[in-house]
Amino acid sequence: MGNDSSGSRPDSTYTDHYYTEKLLMSISNMDELTDIIVQVSTGKVNAEKCSLMLLDEDRQTLSINKMKGFNGNQSVVKDSKIKLGEGIAGLVALEGKALLVTDMKNERKFRTKYSVRYKSSSFISIPLKIKSDIIGVLNLTDKIDNHHFTEQDLHSLSAFTTYASAAIKNALIFKKLQNLSVTDGLTGLYNRRHFYNCLEKEIIRSGRYGRNFTLAILDIDKFKHYNDTYGHLAGDSVLKQVSEILKIHTRSIDIVARYGGEEFAIIFPETHDADNLMAATVSGLHFPERLRMAVEGYNFSNISNGEKLSVTISGGVARFPHDGTTEKGLVSIADENLYYAKRGGRNMIYVDRICPGKQPARIGTGGNAQKNTAFSGYVAQRLPVRLHTEKALLGCH
Ligand code: GH3
Ligand code: MG
Ligand code: MG
Repeated sequence: MGNDSSGSRPDSTYTDHYYTEKLLMSISNMDELTDIIVQVSTGKVNAEKCSLMLLDEDRQTLSINKMKGFNGNQSVVKDSKIKLGEGIAGLVALEGKALLVTDMKNERKFRTKYSVRYKSSSFISIPLKIKSDIIGVLNLTDKIDNHHFTEQDLHSLSAFTTYASAAIKNALIFKKLQNLSVTDGLTGLYNRRHFYNCLEKEIIRSGRYGRNFTLAILDIDKFKHYNDTYGHLAGDSVLKQVSEILKIHTRSIDIVARYGGEEFAIIFPETHDADNLMAATVSGLHFPERLRMAVEGYNFSNISNGEKLSVTISGGVARFPHDGTTEKGLVSIADENLYYAKRGGRNMIYVDRICPGKQPARIGTGGNAQKNTAFSGYVAQRLPVRLHTEKALLGCH
């Protein structure tokens, strides 16, 4: 970069824009980015209130992404959606044209519905767009000195929102790519790679803070049969339905992943320690059992002919740090227990090492105890009673 040999001063507006664009484009975190956009916008035009809305994927509704200066229950307002064409913002998003209202009293169209909410009667609503592609709307109201917004305000905001829009689009694409890299295309669950990343982190976190977590590997029983009998598409549909059940019946902190074809791996963080199954209901052992029961009780529908299908899953469990403290160790224990659950008759969950040296113990009520010759000593009863019985049978104490 050389000096300006002409002696004239560099165009400060140009450099401002250049750095604004550079700065905004460098932020890929959506939350951080929209925070800055709202702060800068309100600062530019001395506005007290600002809301940034983004067009949903269906391109029919606007959702509030960020707000500044609004009192009251912001989360309620944040959750509200505005249809395209509805209200001021909806209209601006539909038409793609900025709106500057210097005095609401002169705008019959908006007066009655919106004037009561605001201190001043002037506002700016400006579309966020890349060329003609609308991605949202930025609304500013209540000028600090009680004056009305001007054409100059609108002009300076328009320039800024051009960069802001490009940066938002950039951050949205980044987020989408990030999601794609961690999720499984068919089921929308996390993929195996992400599961292992999470497992590694959870081992470090739980180890550092002395916490416990539970790992389960679940597998759909006789899944090959669905494919062979009803076709691959029907099989895919069963996979999706099972995934949905797993998502619904887990906590938001649980990591639910598609581990392989018809296998799922789930990390249940923050479970309590339990050296024996007596404490199963607080130890996290009941989580996989709850999933097994949810799948067993669900009315699956066959997409090819609409008839009801019955689907079951089996699972193996491993507990940190009780059963192992490494990824490999935990996964192999869970895997081994899954194998026992399959051998035990399927539709059941197994957990290991209740008492050192003893065979794995079955938890829950699935399967058929009568058919279970390999483990006929285990009596099928419901949690937690049955666990109590198992403990007694195993002679732990
Ligand atoms: P088990 O009870 O012992 O687990 O028996 P299984 O039939 O479920 O196990 P097996 O390993 O014999 O068969 C798994 C089947 O899952 C075979 C494979 O074609 C099918 N599969 C794996 N991934 C997909 C998928 O994405 N879509 C469909 N439709 N089928 C899949
Ligand atoms: Mg299977
Ligand atoms: Mg399998």
